[in-house]
Amino acid sequence: MSLDMFGSMIVTPSSSPIGLCVILPKPCCNCNSDTAVIGSSADPHHARLNCNCCGGHRGWLGAATFKFLSNVIDNFGRPSQPIEIRQNQSTRERGYPSSNSNSTER
Ligand SMILES: [Zn+2]
Repeated sequence: MSLDMFGSMIVTPSSSPIGLCVILPKPCCNCNSDTAVIGSSADPHHARLNCNCCGGHRGWLGAATFKFLSNVIDNFGRPSQPIEIRQNQSTRERGYPSSNSNSTER
């Protein structure tokens, strides 16, 4: 069995999140599965998300999330378990008014 023909087709850097399993905030409307696989990039998006169960399109991976996942892989290696992705990537607590510009002070 030759792996060479597959190796030349799929070139994935070790720190790339592509091929990684993620848990999405919403279940698939088709099969109700909440896990998706990160697919290859497509302009203008960084990566597509395909349902892990039925293969349906589950959305796009934003630049921030893509970078976040790359950093996780860089620092901790490829995770063996799916990473949960939250819709709100902001680390700020909810409840603050968005018009508040004094948020730099604690
Ligand atoms: Zn599905």
